[in-house]
Amino acid sequence: MKGSLQTAVTLLPAITAAVLAWDALRLRARPAGLAIAALLTSAAIWTGGYAGEILAATLQGKLLWAKVQYFGIATLPLAWLAFADGYAGGRWGWERRWPLLAPMPFITLALAWTNELHGMIWTSVAMDQIGGISVLALEHGTWFYLHVAFCYVLLAAGSIRIVRELWRRPFFGRQAMAMVAGAIGPWAGNLLYVSGLNPIAPLDLTPFAFAASAITLTIAVGRFGFLDLVPVAHASVLASMADSVFVLDSRDRVIDTNPAARNSFCIGGDPVGRNVRDLIPSLPSGHRELGPEHRHGFSHTVDGRITHYALSSTPLADPRRRESGRILVITDVTDQRLAEERIHTLAHKDALTGLPNREVFRGRFDRALRAARRNGRHAACLFIDLDNFKRINDHYGHSIGDAVLREAVRRIEAGLRASDTVLAAPDDTTLARFGGDEFVILLEGLDHPEDAVPPAERVIAALQAPHRHGESRLSLNASVGVAVYPDDGEDAETLLRNADAAMYAAKEGGGNRVQFFTSRIRDAVTQRIEVESELHRAIEQDAFVLAYQPQFCTARNRIVGFEALLRWNHPERGIVRPGDFVAVAEQSGLIIPMGEWIMQRACSDWTRLRAATGTDCRLAINLSPRQFADPRLIRYLRETLERTGLPPKLLEIELTEGALMEDTETTQELLEDLHSLGASLAIDDFGAGYSSLAYMRTFHLDVIKIDRSFVASMLDDHRAANLVRAMIAMGHNLGLEVVCEGVEQQEQLEALVEAGCDRLQGYLLGHPVPIEQVEALLRQEPAHRLAASA
Ligand code: C2E
Ligand code: CA
Ligand code: CA
Repeated sequence: MKGSLQTAVTLLPAITAAVLAWDALRLRARPAGLAIAALLTSAAIWTGGYAGEILAATLQGKLLWAKVQYFGIATLPLAWLAFADGYAGGRWGWERRWPLLAPMPFITLALAWTNELHGMIWTSVAMDQIGGISVLALEHGTWFYLHVAFCYVLLAAGSIRIVRELWRRPFFGRQAMAMVAGAIGPWAGNLLYVSGLNPIAPLDLTPFAFAASAITLTIAVGRFGFLDLVPVAHASVLASMADSVFVLDSRDRVIDTNPAARNSFCIGGDPVGRNVRDLIPSLPSGHRELGPEHRHGFSHTVDGRITHYALSSTPLADPRRRESGRILVITDVTDQRLAEERIHTLAHKDALTGLPNREVFRGRFDRALRAARRNGRHAACLFIDLDNFKRINDHYGHSIGDAVLREAVRRIEAGLRASDTVLAAPDDTTLARFGGDEFVILLEGLDHPEDAVPPAERVIAALQAPHRHGESRLSLNASVGVAVYPDDGEDAETLLRNADAAMYAAKEGGGNRVQFFTSRIRDAVTQRIEVESELHRAIEQDAFVLAYQPQFCTARNRIVGFEALLRWNHPERGIVRPGDFVAVAEQSGLIIPMGEWIMQRACSDWTRLRAATGTDCRLAINLSPRQFADPRLIRYLRETLERTGLPPKLLEIELTEGALMEDTETTQELLEDLHSLGASLAIDDFGAGYSSLAYMRTFHLDVIKIDRSFVASMLDDHRAANLVRAMIAMGHNLGLEVVCEGVEQQEQLEALVEAGCDRLQGYLLGHPVPIEQVEALLRQEPAHRLAASA
C-alpha cells in the first residue's frame, strides 16, 4: 500500500513533467522548448525524489531517494537560468556560457552519489520523526554549502532576468502575473523552509514550489500567447527580416527592434526606450491611425543618401483586444521606386534613341505654343522622314538599322547645334522620335518663319554625309516638312498634320529636300480630309461597285480570269476611279472595311457567275499594304471563301511590292498562310518598285504582273522591250506565270505573245465591266480570240 503510494507520488511529477515538456517542445521551437523541458524534468526529479525520501520506510531507502533528488537539485538551477535567459531573448547567451557552469552540478552529483565521497555533502545521516513523517536528519559537509551558494546565484540570476524582462515589456496581464508568480514561487517555498515558518516543519517545500513554478511558467508561456512569449523564436524571425521592425508601446516608445531597424535608423546607440520620432523624424504622422493594410511611403536621408520606405503599422493588442502598442514594419522600396522610374522613362522616352516620344513632344509643343502666343513669336515644327531607311533595314538587317537610327539622331542633333548666325537661331529645340524613321523637331522662339530653313537644311546635310557600318558605307537622305505657328496652324495637332503633309510633298518631289507647308499642300490636305469624310459616307451608303477586267491566256486563246477593280459611284462626280481615293482610304485605314466589302462582293459575284455559266475563270483581287498588314486578314479571307463557297484555287491575290517590303519575316509567314488557304499570289506592278529581284528569291509567289509602264513604252523604247522580255524569261525560270497589263495596241499584243507572256490584260482585250456584262463577255468569247484580233 505504502509502496504503491510512493510509486504514485514519485511518478506523478514525472508524468506531469513529461506531458508538459512534450507540449512545450511541440508548441515552441528549440531552444526555448528544450529549456522548458529541462526545467520541468529537473523539477520533477527533485520533487519525485523528495516524495520518495519521505515515503521510504528505511534509512537506506530514504538515502537512495535523497540521492535521486540530487539529480534534480543539481541540474535545476542551470535549467532555470537557461529558461529565464531564453525568455529574455537569449541576450545573455547561456548556451555559450553553460560549459563554465556545468562542472558544478556534475561534481555535486558525483559527491552525493558516491558513498566514499558523499561526506562532502552529508557528514552524518539519521532518521528523524516529525509530526508522524519520518525524514532524514542530515549534517552537511563543505561542498553542500558551496553548491547551495552556486544554486542561489543561478536561481537569483534567472529570477531577476524574468522579472526584468517583464519590466522591460509593458504588457501586464495574466501571463505577466503567472511569470512573476513562477519567478518568486521557489523563493517563497525556500524562505519558509529556511526561516522555520513552515506550517509542516521541517518539511522542505522548495522542491514542490519549484515544481509548481515550472508548471506555472510552462503554462504561462505556452497558453497566453504574446509576441514576446518566446522571444528566442521571435527574435530570430525578426533578426532574419530584411524589413525594419519596431515594437512600440502606447506612447510610441521603442520596446523592441530588429537588427535591420538598428542598422537603418538607430545609429546613435540603443533605441529601446526612445521615442520612434526621435529616431525617424520623417515618419508619417498619424501612423497610429493606419491599419496593417495601408502602406505609407516616406523617405529618410542618412549622410545625404535618400532611401525610400513603405510603412505598415499594426496594432498590438492583448487578448482582451486592448491596444497596448504597435508594430511598425518599414520596407526599403528604393529599388522598386527606381524600377518605377525606369518604367516611367520607358513610357516617355523612345527606348532605342532615348529621345522623347510622341506624348512628351505633344506636351512640350503645347507649352511652346502658349509661350509663342504670349510673346508674339514663331514656332516651327519639322517633320523628318528618312527616304531610304526601309531599304537599309531590309538589306542590312535590324541591328544595323538600329545603329543607323542612333547615328541619324546624333547627326540631327549635331545639325541642330551647329548654328551659323546666332541672331536667327531658335531659343530652344526639341527632337523627338515618332516611331520608325520618323523624327520631329520643335523650334521655339523664331523671329521669322524663314528662320526654320537653316536648321532644316543643316539636318539634311548632316544626315547625308556618308558613314560606315561594318563593311558598308551608307548615306541617308531625308525629307523634311515644315509647318510654322501661327501661319500654318494654331494648335499642335494641325501643325503636326501640316508638317507631315509637307513632308509627304517633299517625298513626292523626289525626297532629300525641305518642303514648307504651302497653300497647294493645304488644298491637298483639305481635299484629303474631304475625301475621307465622303468615303465614310460612301461605306455607309454602299456606294461602291466592282468592275471586272478580263485576262486572256495566250496559249489557250481565251479568257482565263478577271481582275476585280473598285469603282466609287459618287453622287456628284459619277464613277470615280480608285486612283483618286484608294490612297486616302489607305492612309485613314478605311481600306480595311472597304477591302472586306470588296472581298465579299467579288466572291459572291463569282459564285453566282459560276452557277450561271459554269466558268472556271480565276478571280484576281487587289490587296493594299494596309490590308496585308491587318492581323485579321487570313481569318477574314477564309471565312469569306467558306461563306460564298468560292473554290480557293480560283482566287488570285494581287499584292504590290511595297506590301511585301514591310517586314520580311512576318511577310513570309503571311504568304504561307495565304497559300495554305489555297489561293495563288501575284505581284502587281512588278518592276515599278525596288529590290524586285531580291524578293523573288525570298518569297513564295505564283504570278508576276509586269507593270503597265513597261508595256506602254515597249514600242518606242527598245530597252523597255528588252526589259519586258527579260522579266518574262526570268519569271519563267523561277517557275512563275507572267501577266502583262495595260495592253492597248495590237503591236504590243503581238510582241508580248512572241515574248512568251502567259496572260494579257488591257483595254485592247477588254475594259473593266460590271458583273452583268461579264457573263456576256464569256458567251461571246470566241469572237475575242487573240488570233482573231491579231
Ligand atoms: P492596278 O492593280 O494596277 O490595276 C490596273 C489598273 O489599270 C486599273 O485601273 C485598270 O482599269 C487599268 N487598266 C487596265 N487596262 C488598261 C489599259 O490598257 N491602259 C491603261 N492605261 N490602264 C489600264 P483602276 O481601276 O483605275 O485602278 C487603279 C489602281 O487602284 C489599281 O491598279 C489598284 O492598285 C487600285 N485598286 C483598284 N481596285 C482595287 C481594289 O479593289 N482594292 C485595292 N486595294 N486597290 C484597288
Ligand atoms: Ca492589280
Ligand atoms: Ca498593276
